[in-house]
Amino acid sequence: MFFDAHNHLQDPALAPHLDEIAAACAEIGLGRAVVNGTCETDWPDVTALARRHPFVHPSYGLHPWDAGNRTPAWLDTLRATLDANPGASIGEIGLDRWILDSARPDDPRLTGLRRAPLPTQIEVFRAQLTLAAERNLAASIHCLDAFGPLLNVLETTPLPKRGFLLHAYGGPAEMLPQFLRLGAYFSFNGSFLCPRHARRREVFRQIPLDRLLLETDAPATPPPPAHRSRTFAAPDEKLNHPANIAVIYEAFAALRGIQLPELKAMCKAAISQLFD
Ligand SMILES: [Zn+2]
Repeated sequence: MFFDAHNHLQDPALAPHLDEIAAACAEIGLGRAVVNGTCETDWPDVTALARRHPFVHPSYGLHPWDAGNRTPAWLDTLRATLDANPGASIGEIGLDRWILDSARPDDPRLTGLRRAPLPTQIEVFRAQLTLAAERNLAASIHCLDAFGPLLNVLETTPLPKRGFLLHAYGGPAEMLPQFLRLGAYFSFNGSFLCPRHARRREVFRQIPLDRLLLETDAPATPPPPAHRSRTFAAPDEKLNHPANIAVIYEAFAALRGIQLPELKAMCKAAISQLFD
């Protein structure tokens, strides 16, 4: 069985393809996908998907990109959503300095977003981590260009006993021991197979196998063409198909020099620890 530790099946871009995606995921033997809500308005969509598709594990969070657009009731709504969905997790949450310092102003993904400054992102992140700790729910964490502040928040905030996931980990290898000590698991997606991501693959090789997960992050971050087994028809051919998780496992097993069944067993145990 394959497990997708992080995707966004609720993304409107995937809506026209949901039946085909469900069939393809059944065909490859997808056991579970952690589907991450990112803002108050998409949380009900995650719930609807979890009711319809048994492979969907719902997760709810306010993403750092969406922190500036939150309503005053956001944290109450998050609590109520978790109450209504026992077994759900928390995410996607985190910190992002890239949208503040490096994003191009005309990036279409940022249209309509009120970008929250780092102190506001930290406040929103801390509130959600605290909630995850109170309920001992896994937290799925996004971090871009903010690994110092991330470590600082993790060291000074209650954390869930079962651990937390640093999704699409792009931080330095030198910080791995500190994150591991705090209970981190790490997930990697198909975009890390691009030739330009040699440094990330080197970090991937250093992750202890019992703290390792794989993800698609679909519809974002498609694997490079050589590793892409599934695509959508035009005009959606640039989207990442959730069933690419199978080829992602194969490529990462080869990178670690282990057999696919061993990698599957390790990822299954890690998914269970975080999300069961
Ligand atoms: Zn994500």
